[in-house]
Amino acid sequence: MARPEVTPLGLLHFPSEPRKFRQLRQWSREQFQREIRGPALARLGGEATDLGVLIMACGRCGLPTSTLHVFSDLPLDLSRPALEDALRRLWGSERQATADAFCASCHAGSGQLTPVVAHFGRVLAESGRDLQVEVLFGEGRILRMEYHRMDPDGTCTPVGTPADELAFFDTYQAPLSMRTLWSDFLARNLSADSLVTRQIQPGYIIGLRPFTEDEGEAVAFYAGFEKWIERRRRELPYDTVTFFRDREEDGIPVPEAESYHAWLPAFAPDIADALVDPFIVADSDTFIRVLDEIATRRGVRVARASGEDTLFARFTAGEVEARLNVGPRYFRILHSGQTFHRGVITHFAKEILAIAAAGQLPPMLRARLPGLRVRVRDGKLLEIADALERRLFVDDVIRVATAHPVHTEAGLEEVVRRILPSGVQVQPGLVLPRPPG
Ligand SMILES: [Zn+2]
Repeated sequence: MARPEVTPLGLLHFPSEPRKFRQLRQWSREQFQREIRGPALARLGGEATDLGVLIMACGRCGLPTSTLHVFSDLPLDLSRPALEDALRRLWGSERQATADAFCASCHAGSGQLTPVVAHFGRVLAESGRDLQVEVLFGEGRILRMEYHRMDPDGTCTPVGTPADELAFFDTYQAPLSMRTLWSDFLARNLSADSLVTRQIQPGYIIGLRPFTEDEGEAVAFYAGFEKWIERRRRELPYDTVTFFRDREEDGIPVPEAESYHAWLPAFAPDIADALVDPFIVADSDTFIRVLDEIATRRGVRVARASGEDTLFARFTAGEVEARLNVGPRYFRILHSGQTFHRGVITHFAKEILAIAAAGQLPPMLRARLPGLRVRVRDGKLLEIADALERRLFVDDVIRVATAHPVHTEAGLEEVVRRILPSGVQVQPGLVLPRPPG
């Protein structure tokens, strides 16, 4: 846990002046938005880390002090009650975050520090908007939480506490929990009188055929569907229409624990029996674009490498290329209640990092092994030959890059020793740069 610089506010007399507390709250909110969240979003966009700051007043010297908390373990899919529980655990009466805290000005221990306000920020990658929760304390206890939104241009707006996930979506144009959103979407529209749809992000629409036990009525619900999708296809190809029950009927490879059975338990039997019919209309090109956007931050480009009926993508980093069948994971993301962004992080992070490391390896080896020829054949095979073109080493470049910690001096040394077991003199002191993020 890092401790940010603490800016003294002049002489504040804690804890007896409510008016000054209000000033401290507003000041700390502006600091959090301008100095912490703003730069993080500008640098990392949708991948900025969940961060929190707790402001405390020192009972001995009267000055405020703050602790910064990096949340590295909050789930990507997090309901609002679960988020508030996590904040209470950290900052509430158990106060996990402040046990070791001390006053930055007079070094008084945590017993002298009274929490005044805390701020939490999580960026919603799908809309680029930042969810900010302000936690207000009284007598050292959490009194309430207030919600704010920061837009990509830095505009900050206080918003009411979202009543449910649909209200949250309307405020932030992205879900906090996609799975809870599905649940609220079904609950609200179960007895609607027509097909209901809602766009989650560009290229990603969820829909529901409301509940009916009458087969004729079920079919009738789809009367306008062709026209509706035709209209949507004027914007994007929308090549994917998939129903939750397709998991069973078409054998879509989604593990039970990730499927609607696990996170829509109240609706699952009716979905399986097609009494109610949730579906997704999605655009695979847009999905590939999101994949590319996230991979590009690690130095990997992704482009579609297939026709209309299959979904292969080419991942490129430097001379390294990998063509992967991303179709199964695309469907798994849709059927496991994830957005494009969170699905890519969940299901592609490992491969993106592996390909990124592989892409950095050949130039580093060239610098290390002057006089030898380092080549990547067909984007895949790392081939090293001497000046007479005698092959010294051939292996899969991604396998080599992931079998050794190539971002460290020692790891790169391991690779060189594998290539040149006889211990040829090489140029020392070169280490692969770490990938960003
Ligand atoms: Zn102090």
